[in-house]
Amino acid sequence: MQKTACECCGTCCRKGGPALHTEDRQLVEAGILKLGDLITIRHGEYILHPISDAPLPAKEELLKIQGKGGSWCCKFLDNDSLTCTIYNNRPLACRLLKCWDPDDVLKITGKELLNRFDLIPPSNPLFSLTKKHDSECPVPDITSLVDQLFDKKQREETLARMSGLANRDLQARLYAAQMYHLSLADELFYFGRPIFRILEQVGISAKESVEGLSLHYNCI
Ligand code: SF4
Ligand code: SF4
Repeated sequence: MQKTACECCGTCCRKGGPALHTEDRQLVEAGILKLGDLITIRHGEYILHPISDAPLPAKEELLKIQGKGGSWCCKFLDNDSLTCTIYNNRPLACRLLKCWDPDDVLKITGKELLNRFDLIPPSNPLFSLTKKHDSECPVPDITSLVDQLFDKKQREETLARMSGLANRDLQARLYAAQMYHLSLADELFYFGRPIFRILEQVGISAKESVEGLSLHYNCI
């Protein structure tokens, strides 16, 4: 039978927390959402579309609520009761999402998105540090990366380039974490997911040694 009301099954929350919109800024200002509850999704990273479930590259940077236990399941979902632990203060997209009638959430999808630079004061040294990291360690174009890895002639050069990028990314995070005492959760807000994690989705795995990370391609 067609749903007409939310059955609180938790399925949408398990697929990942919502993208935040400018209206949700007040939740951060009120301390309901801490910076360490949020994860930056950088331009070009693949994310699940809220309705179609298709992974698509982010057209612009956005913030989502962090997952838990190594999954994208929203950290505010109570696994036992399948209820939202911030229900009365849940973000705009959660209030509008009706899995049986996507019109309302589609109206706001991709519009008036909040990003980390809306929340970090420009006077905070992490503002310029994250800007620098963003330009020096951009998320690679996943589509062309797949083509380059598929082509055996380009593969080694591509892996060497990606190794350089993944190591630069890690060094920037390490520096910021030590300098500004960032927790791992804070780091995900300020820098997003590490490049080597993003590369896993195209079949690249990382090995760590004293010289840093070296990347390997496992055909997928
Ligand atoms: S909106 Fe749909 S998927 Fe989400 S909790 Fe309600 S019934 Fe489940
Ligand atoms: S904030 Fe609440 S309603 Fe929104 S995804 Fe998380 S658990 Fe679900």
